[in-house]
Amino acid sequence: MHTEKKLASASLESLYRIFTVPEAPESTLGRIDRNISRNLTAFLQEHIVAVEKDLEEIEEDFSDPHIPERPAFVSSHADFLLEKLVSQSVHTASPSFVGHMTTALPYFMLPLSKIMIALNQNLVKTETSKAFTPLERQVVGMLHQLIYQRDSDFYANWMHDSNHALGALGSGGTIANLTALWAARNNRFPADKGFEGVSREGMYGALHHYGFEGAAILASRRGHYSLGKASDVLGIGRNQLILVDTDDKNRMDPEALRRTCLRLRSRGICILSVVGIAGTTETGSVDPLDELAGLAQEFGSHFHVDAAWGGPTMFSRKYRSLMKGVQQADSVTIDAHKQLYVPLGVGMVLFKDPTMLNSIEHHAQYVIRKGSKDLGSSTLEGSRPGMAMLVYSGLKIIGRQGYELLINRGIELTAAFADMIRERDCFELITEPELNILTYRYVPSVVREALEYGDLESVEALNKGLNRITQYIQKAQRAQGRAFVSRTRLNPEIYNGEDVIVFRVVLANPLTTKEILKDILDEQETIADDVETLEVRNGLTKICETCFVERKSVL
Ligand SMILES: *Cc1c(COP(=O)(O)O)cnc(C)c1O
Repeated sequence: MHTEKKLASASLESLYRIFTVPEAPESTLGRIDRNISRNLTAFLQEHIVAVEKDLEEIEEDFSDPHIPERPAFVSSHADFLLEKLVSQSVHTASPSFVGHMTTALPYFMLPLSKIMIALNQNLVKTETSKAFTPLERQVVGMLHQLIYQRDSDFYANWMHDSNHALGALGSGGTIANLTALWAARNNRFPADKGFEGVSREGMYGALHHYGFEGAAILASRRGHYSLGKASDVLGIGRNQLILVDTDDKNRMDPEALRRTCLRLRSRGICILSVVGIAGTTETGSVDPLDELAGLAQEFGSHFHVDAAWGGPTMFSRKYRSLMKGVQQADSVTIDAHKQLYVPLGVGMVLFKDPTMLNSIEHHAQYVIRKGSKDLGSSTLEGSRPGMAMLVYSGLKIIGRQGYELLINRGIELTAAFADMIRERDCFELITEPELNILTYRYVPSVVREALEYGDLESVEALNKGLNRITQYIQKAQRAQGRAFVSRTRLNPEIYNGEDVIVFRVVLANPLTTKEILKDILDEQETIADDVETLEVRNGLTKICETCFVERKSVL
């Protein structure tokens, strides 16, 4: 009670108190802690996705731009957070939240994460992290081993070597991809006679010195937008992120890649990196990594694999072959806050060659001295939290076998869901799942027939109408709050590359069941019959009738 009172007055004495560790767990802070825990447990047990409330209404609670003048009680602030923030948050852990890559967490992450906050270690240098630095190096080694499977001697040599790092941790896949391409760029344009290297002289100097007209990064049309950001930041330019065509399974077409490489080479453009994707964000497709590796080598390019989502498939003995060729990559991105089930935000990039990261090394006298074991010299970010501890905890508590079970279950449930969609006559599966992501859309059976034999113009008009209904269903379902699937736009070949709006489902929560998925489809069917869609549906019927009459006259 005493502490609580003091917190509300702006005196130095009360400030000292909030930095002093409370003695007894029965203290006011202890009570607040228990209250929050109870509330969070209740929140996490709710099997809904969100309560129905407009964002505009929520914004009203967060509209005052003034920093409070006077201090507040921790307890009343905690109550505010629980009432206004927690209650209006999205239940990403709900088994019917199947629309995004933000996963549910194993319950043990919550108590273990306290260690991280309590100790507040800074991984930028060993002076502020001590044991956390070797731990992070071990985590990097473990994920490196998962991909490249080198022998124990290799790891004994390199894992804790003060002059090298096998990879870099960061806040997520975006930073990991940027780091990979940064290293690729710097290794491609190193110091040379009369040139100090791209890291000092910049892209203009590098291209001039090495005699190129430009530089390019190649990825498939399904590449993640973080690749565009990286091209921008690295001075390569978003226009030089060249999107290579995909086949009808959303995988990069190696022949198209070869043609693109030849065309770029003939124009004097340096092919900095080929990026293969292992688990595209929208469709979960895996590029033919081994073929891409061969082409990258042929054209003297770095080969990066963006396995931010799909990387943990390597835990599965049963499905690892889906990642065939990944160990040929020069660098691989894996997000820990996706399928390693670690809290946001932590991701990493691993490098095949232990010397690769040296090209981005940066030293500062006061903090990351050369030859120290400080991780700050090989990461883009400076101060960094001890998230490696949570990655390590997941690896240790769940283990390879546990992760394999999670991966296998996700892949198999997604295959079963694809069957459920095919069995219904008002949905169309748009992408066959390879991993645990699929897309589909609303298409009643009469329309499906007309889509098959209608002329180009009718098919286009039908797709437009279907897009409107699919979009409507997705929004209405989200607003109802029982379940959430996301939505994206694809350009399937069977519809001549026209825009097709689809539902996107990501199945990574082990508590999601077939029954839940059935309910989601049922709800979507019901929403499809809303009066709001009546006009569009009538329009579709009319087009179908015309198609039908035309077809009859042809037959
Ligand atoms: C999620 C994802 C990213 C970006 O990762 P963030 O953690 O969101 O920064 C990059 N590539 C792919 C394929 C992804 O799925």
